Amino acid sequence: MLIIGPHLSIAAGFTRAGQEAVKIEANTFQFFTRNPRGGKAKALDLKDVAGLRQIIETQGFGPLLAHAPYTLNMCSAKPETREFARMVFKEDLLRLEELPCELYNFHPGSHTGQGVAEGITAIVEILNAEMWADQKATVVLETMSGKGTEIGRNFEELKMIIDQVVLPEKMGICLDTCHVYSGGYDIAGNLDGVLADFDRIIGLDYLKCLHLNDSMMPFNSNKDRHEKIGLGTLGIETFQQIVTHPQLKDLPFFLETPQQVTLDYQKEIALLRSF
Ligand code: FE
Ligand code: FE
Ligand code: ZN
Repeated sequence: MLIIGPHLSIAAGFTRAGQEAVKIEANTFQFFTRNPRGGKAKALDLKDVAGLRQIIETQGFGPLLAHAPYTLNMCSAKPETREFARMVFKEDLLRLEELPCELYNFHPGSHTGQGVAEGITAIVEILNAEMWADQKATVVLETMSGKGTEIGRNFEELKMIIDQVVLPEKMGICLDTCHVYSGGYDIAGNLDGVLADFDRIIGLDYLKCLHLNDSMMPFNSNKDRHEKIGLGTLGIETFQQIVTHPQLKDLPFFLETPQQVTLDYQKEIALLRSF
């Protein structure tokens, strides 16, 4: 059974998000831990969390994915931005101890001119200071399209981060299909080759989940514009190959495609399940 779900808002609560997922035949979902632009996280309502836990158990959900706010930048040149990132990261990891969710995705960040090596050092400093050995969550780095000074534009940069983390067993990767294609990995023409590169450079054991997005932008453009499944430069066959690939098919998939309403995800989920 394919594990697939949309990105959902938790503004109306975790139970409500779980119910919405069920309604559109999803068996997981992704959510922002707080307002994507940052800001304070609401205090947890434990009854609400218990409601989601029950849905997960009775409906047989796969792993959920928490996504850090976009404003989290561990490698900014500005110390106050790095400190904000550290605070949000630590707070989010502590919240995840109480939630039925064991994957925490964040964008490695933008080095804002300091250079890749400096940037990676700054990221690793926060990870090593704030993670702990028996934490529940696995911290997943998202593959990025490589716009501006983004870190994580290629597998080597992600591997460099993992290599310097003291708790690599608590680390993983989230492969975003739109981002890697824009970043110069031809998953449309040579999925097996890209996965072989991933395995050689990082190791497929680190791959924990995927973001399924088509792209509005051409291959290797380093631009990040998501498109609905099948309507972009990746095309429907690419997604058929991905969700049926022996090395990928059992991983959780999360849609971040542009939709007017949650119900629109239902069509994409049904289409991907039909493969
Ligand atoms: Fe993301
Ligand atoms: Fe993504
Ligand atoms: Zn994106």
